[in-house]
Amino acid sequence: MTPERSPLTAPDCLFCRLVAGDVPATLVASTDDAVAFRDIDPKAPVHVLVVPRDHHADVGQLAAADPALLASVVRLAHEVAEDECDGAFRLVFNTGSEAGQSVFHVHGHVIGGTRLGWSPA
Ligand code: IMP
Repeated sequence: MTPERSPLTAPDCLFCRLVAGDVPATLVASTDDAVAFRDIDPKAPVHVLVVPRDHHADVGQLAAADPALLASVVRLAHEVAEDECDGAFRLVFNTGSEAGQSVFHVHGHVIGGTRLGWSPA
C-alpha cells in the first residue's frame, strides 16, 4: 500500500478505529501497511496484536484478497518477536467465533516471553 492511500475501512470496526487513532492503544511498531499494539488483556508476558491497516475480516479473506499484505503482517509480527522475545513466539490468527475470534478485523496474536505450553483446545 502507498502511504498516501487511505486504508480500506469497515463501519463500526474497533481495529479500524484504533488504526485511525480514534481508539487509544499502546503502539509497539508500525509500517505503511500494518500496526502492532499491545493486547488490552494480555495472556502472556508478551502479547501484541498485529493488524493490517486495511480492513479484512479474517486471515483467509486477507490471504485471498491481498497476499502481499498478509506477508507484511507476518514480517511485522516477526520483527516484534525478535525485539521482545528473542524470536521465540507463537503467531495465532483465531478465525471464526467458535475458534475464539471476537474482533472481525484480522489480527495476529504475537504471544511469547515465557515457555509456552501446547494445549490450544
Ligand atoms: P480475538 O478474540 O482473537 O478476536 O482477539 C481479540 C483481542 O483483542 C483480544 O485478545 C482482546 O483482549 C483484544 N482487544 C480488544 N479490544 C482491544 C483494544 O481496544 N486494544 C487492544 N486490544 C484489544
